[in-house]
Amino acid sequence: MKKIALFPGSFDPFTKGHQDIVVRGARLFDEVVIGIGNNSSKQRYFPLDFMKSKIEETFQDEMNIRVEIFQGLTSQFAKSIGAHHILRGLRNTTDYEYENTIAQVNNFLNDDLETVFLITAPSLAYISSSIVREIHKFDGDVSSFLPYKM
Ligand code: ADP
Repeated sequence: MKKIALFPGSFDPFTKGHQDIVVRGARLFDEVVIGIGNNSSKQRYFPLDFMKSKIEETFQDEMNIRVEIFQGLTSQFAKSIGAHHILRGLRNTTDYEYENTIAQVNNFLNDDLETVFLITAPSLAYISSSIVREIHKFDGDVSSFLPYKM
């Protein structure tokens, strides 16, 4: 059976930190599906379709990495694509506190789902989507944080 991992997130925007988790995840699983959550109550900074095409461009040469936009519960979306694993990155203890709860809830909602955490590469641990948005908002140069050109 093909081992599929879902890497869910807002990816607003997708950063080099996210890219590192995907590349390392793709060595562990047969396929990694990057799921951009479309949460209608949360206003995005970078449009969904724009981000989807930028992530696709980043992984255009990787046959086992694809990108999907999804609505609703991560655990339901994982089931719909046949993923038994959720992939997440851990930067620090703040991430851990948050991720711990989410992983337990996802496992409660779908007990066929195991969350796998990869510890962030130290050189990328300081990168966050919110900081990139802040820099971009004030016309700062965000190119070194992103794996694609804006
Ligand atoms: P969410 O809105 O669901 O938290 P994000 O897009 O912010 O989604 O992050 C998705 C995942 O990527 C999370 O597991 C987060 O901890 C991880 N992540 C975010 N930034 C980095 C980084 N610089 N290095 C490694 N993992 C990261």
